[in-house]
Amino acid sequence: MSQRPQQRIVIVGGGTAGWMTAAALGHFLDDGFTVELVESDAIGTIGVGEATIPHINVFKKALGIDEKAFMRATHATYKLGIAFDGWLHPGHSYIHAFGDVGRDVGLCAFQHFWSRGMRLGFAKETGAYTLNTIAARAGRMHDGAPLTAQTVPAMPHAFHFDAGLYAAFLRDHAEARGVKRTEGMIADVRRHGLTGDVTVLRLADGREIAGDLFIDCSGQRGLLIGDALGGAYEDWRRWLPCDRAMAVQSPRLADLVPYTRAIAHPVGWQWRIPLQHRTGNGRVYCSDFVTDDAVHDELIAGLEGGAITAPRPIRFTTGRRREAWKANVIAIGLSSGFLEPLESTSIHLIQTGIARLLKFLPAGPVAQVTRDAFNAQFAFEMERIRDFIILHYWANRREEPFWQACRAVDLPDSLRAKIDLFAASGQIFREGEELFSEVGWFQVMAAQGIIPAASHAMAEAISEADLREYLELIAALYTREAGQYASHADFIARHCAAPMAQ
Ligand code: FAD
Repeated sequence: MSQRPQQRIVIVGGGTAGWMTAAALGHFLDDGFTVELVESDAIGTIGVGEATIPHINVFKKALGIDEKAFMRATHATYKLGIAFDGWLHPGHSYIHAFGDVGRDVGLCAFQHFWSRGMRLGFAKETGAYTLNTIAARAGRMHDGAPLTAQTVPAMPHAFHFDAGLYAAFLRDHAEARGVKRTEGMIADVRRHGLTGDVTVLRLADGREIAGDLFIDCSGQRGLLIGDALGGAYEDWRRWLPCDRAMAVQSPRLADLVPYTRAIAHPVGWQWRIPLQHRTGNGRVYCSDFVTDDAVHDELIAGLEGGAITAPRPIRFTTGRRREAWKANVIAIGLSSGFLEPLESTSIHLIQTGIARLLKFLPAGPVAQVTRDAFNAQFAFEMERIRDFIILHYWANRREEPFWQACRAVDLPDSLRAKIDLFAASGQIFREGEELFSEVGWFQVMAAQGIIPAASHAMAEAISEADLREYLELIAALYTREAGQYASHADFIARHCAAPMAQ
């Protein structure tokens, strides 16, 4: 038993953010801490957020979660990347795939060989040299057997899952590790007169919950970080003007593809997320350019198999809290900020918020320098993801007024520098702990029409014939490899089908 007084951690909210945080704290903290989660059944959760990126595997492994059990419980499917349909122009399509493009040959990244091949006129779109893209387009998934060719990289994958079932799955995990759940509506938040720290939450029925550290997972409202502490919010709509979404579910698709679809529309875009038992759909749009009614009608008319739920409107302001950690409150999830789900980054941001919390968790009083470091890391991470999303909108060749307006935005300096460097030299440098790798930036810039004017000297030095052969070899190798994989739908049916989806 620890000698120091027990620290009481209170998590406000039981959505994806709340239960991921609770599961992690329950798993990692010793008996020097108690963890209590408060959620309101009457308010409920946002109920969207069903596509992830491969980093979720780190969370899963750290918590000792079995992949197949988790997939069965959440009706999950595999995800090998995101198909962007119509983003460059109507009719165009590419996949931003997880994992490598081409082959790593050490000193010189693949993008240099590719860009020279493009300038010479024989290279194909990057997807032709990407194992995950080839497998995804063919509806196939590596079935866990050793990869056939030694030269083929492993296939990084993520998941699509049912958000409500995921929260329930994590709740079981958290409660089994001592997290206490309290159901009730928080009606009042009390603060310390001198420090401003939150001290007590009062529920509508009069119960009180005291704590030392509060994790605000209350969603868009930001009950503690915003309402109680008045934390400022930085608005990013000048770069990312979409401010609304409409979500609806439709029946399971016959072709259970292992990728998310992000389909560009004249205003905004639409997601399609295939699950074992149903399909998640939604439009993200800008209220300056289209009405809710028009989006509603288009969304319903375009659904395969019709709607099985009533369309749900959601409003949002893209941006972030200036301070995600203020006083003794740490915001994780939608309370800390919002970036539209174009690259499925919000659940990942919950995960990195939890990792930062564990890294900085104080054994005693919090020093301001700790908050500053936490907030600086949070700001950097959010801004770099923001830049990546702006890139998708900015590098378009569509004619509609919405897309023209997206092309006209004044880019943040950090993004401008990245695009200019790539366009001039083919170079991309990942900075610090930014989420997206060189390969991610490469895929989106290249597919959305930014072709470097020059390549690395090594790529410029090889003969045209050798370069052509090299590119053809990679494409053939990956096509052959993916051709041997199981169909994604069969793989799910055999190994991880949810009982009701079988
Ligand atoms: P919520 O789910 O809103 O949970 C808030 C919790 O706080 C609830 O339990 C509620 O009851 C509780 N609460 C609030 N007020 C009170 C009160 N007064 N008293 C007691 N309890 C209270 N992310 C991805 O990674 N991939 C995606 O594909 C994706 N798609 C998205 C699509 C859209 C349109 C939107 C808006 C978001 C999407 N996200 C996505 C983000 C994702 O949905 C969220 O990051 C995730 O669901 C976490 O939400 P949350 O837990 O912060 O908030």
